[in-house]
Amino acid sequence: PPRFSLDDIGGLENLKEWLRKRQTLFTREAVEAGLPVPKGLLMMGMSGCGKSLSVKTIPALWNLPLFRLDMNLVFGTANPEATFHRALKTTEGLAPAILWIDEIEMAITGGREAGGGDPALGRIFSTFLTWMQEKEALVFVAATANRIHLLPAEFIRKGRFDQVFFLDLPNETERKAIFTVHLKKRKVDPSRFDVVFLAKATKGFNGAEIESVVQAAAIEAFNEGRTVTEDDVSRTITATVPLSRTMDEQIKAIKSWAHNRALSASRESAS
Ligand code: ATP
Repeated sequence: PPRFSLDDIGGLENLKEWLRKRQTLFTREAVEAGLPVPKGLLMMGMSGCGKSLSVKTIPALWNLPLFRLDMNLVFGTANPEATFHRALKTTEGLAPAILWIDEIEMAITGGREAGGGDPALGRIFSTFLTWMQEKEALVFVAATANRIHLLPAEFIRKGRFDQVFFLDLPNETERKAIFTVHLKKRKVDPSRFDVVFLAKATKGFNGAEIESVVQAAAIEAFNEGRTVTEDDVSRTITATVPLSRTMDEQIKAIKSWAHNRALSASRESAS
């Protein structure tokens, strides 16, 4: 995927700091100094809150190639177990590298809510756990998960991954930062906007929805042959119903599930 930098992420300060601190651990100097090489990171949480975006910043930051393993494709093959095993071995041959496993819950349940039943799934899961525990090659696993209630406890247990982060809906400070990132991306000077007001008006929006608001406003203004204004953005906000509004109960359940199992990717958790 295209390269992104940590500056492309609004908020998620704990996660960014974690990544920054490990920037040099894949260097020869660090390995020779006996420092532990990071094994992996699990990012779980709400949709559209920057899990994939965060993974895409690691290659430039750590100067490593990134490979994405698509579990949907793995399950589309005649022998998913063998395909999965081959993918892990292939990545080892390309080390040092980052292996991004998107929707890792697929590897555990095959995407079914109720999991279980299929012995191949159990074998894929245990292959992965053993590989994570024993791998010698410098392969860093960046795993992302949406339906986190499908992840078994032994998967999240400390030791498999160096850290487990929960990415919540952005708080007000983070929404301000996300607006700033996306206004700049559209070549608009954020200082012309009251980003505090925009952040307050988008309570419950995820990062992807904030991005869409800015994009829609920019398109509107461009079609009218003028630069985008705060009014354009306000109007698009009013016309948007964030996903979280219709998912209140699910969101509460996800948050309480993640509370004791993962570290918050955000520095402050005010809404
Ligand atoms: P899903 O689980 O649905 O794949 P995700 O958490 O992986 O969601 P991303 O794909 O990272 O979400 O986010 C979609 C887009 O929304 C990003 O490419 C980015 O443009 C924007 N976005 C999301 N979160 C942020 C953020 N914190 N800062 C800046 N942009 C963001």
